[in-house]
Amino acid sequence: MHIREIFNKKKLVFSFEIFPPKATSSVNTIYKTLEALSDLRPDFISVTYGAGGGSNQNKTRELSSLVKNKYGIESVAHLTCIRSTKDEIKQILEELEQDGIENILALRGDIPLEDEVKGDFSYASDLVKFIKKHGRFDLGGTCYPEGHMDCKSLEEDVKNLKYKIDAGVTHLISQLFYDNNDFYKFLDLTKKYNINVPIEAGIMPLTNNKQIARIATLSGSKIPDKYFKIMDKFAHDSEAMMDAGIAYATEQIIDLITMGVDGIHLYTMNNPYVARKTHDNIIQIIHSVNRD
Ligand code: FAD
Repeated sequence: MHIREIFNKKKLVFSFEIFPPKATSSVNTIYKTLEALSDLRPDFISVTYGAGGGSNQNKTRELSSLVKNKYGIESVAHLTCIRSTKDEIKQILEELEQDGIENILALRGDIPLEDEVKGDFSYASDLVKFIKKHGRFDLGGTCYPEGHMDCKSLEEDVKNLKYKIDAGVTHLISQLFYDNNDFYKFLDLTKKYNINVPIEAGIMPLTNNKQIARIATLSGSKIPDKYFKIMDKFAHDSEAMMDAGIAYATEQIIDLITMGVDGIHLYTMNNPYVARKTHDNIIQIIHSVNRD
């Protein structure tokens, strides 16, 4: 099923994101993770695509196929284009189609360094146009409530977002964020620029202090003072920190749902415990919205 049909049917969509394991870690871990996550019956599970190349990229296909064909949950394969040729992308599209995968999150990927290979595409919108010509996939795109790191302003970034929508993206998944006001301001801007597709809010519970430095460098998302206070108090106790991070994310999600968000996309970090606890905290709220 195309993800846009799920958005058409449901007032509130709930999805998970997983990533293929590194070549060095046991592949059994991800199978166990998938088993546990699929029990929670999200509307879809998306599988990231390693920007660094190698076997990890084939794993995206394998895991997306498993989600769909073994667990009967709709899957979304992430696909980046900045390092790829048109022929390479064509081949990946054929393979995904062979596995019955119907949905792709079309991404640019991070800009390669000077000495790294560049491909035939400049932006996610180029990939969207290319896939539209060469496959029958439903296409999602990303958005950045605090603005993308490469862009000089949030408003400029939202203007650029429109290229993806005009190229054929039917829904958006947001970068993670920790202050809902940033998301609401971003939504106001999308209205100003006539972006009318459903937008899922990306939420990642911060459950240990190592994640915090990584988040700041990788996504550029602001971490509110409230969160640092929680860390100061509980970082020495991993279980307490885990519960505090889940509680923070739960509060964020309830506020977003109350304000009428189209969907919640949970970055699970392949951690079924965090996904289950967060899910259990909000599932009755999700059911209630979808019953109305
Ligand atoms: P684009 O939408 O192409 O935007 C990139 C930049 O270019 C922005 O600054 C934008 O404002 C600007 N821009 C866009 N179009 C134009 C235009 N026509 N003219 C001028 N400027 C323009 N990375 C991975 O490697 N693998 C993954 O699986 C992955 N999954 C992700 C999932 C989500 C939900 C998110 C939010 C990010 C993910 N990323 C992933 C990270 C992503 O690849 C990076 O953030 C990357 O730097 C941008 O990709 P994009 O598709 O958002 O780019």
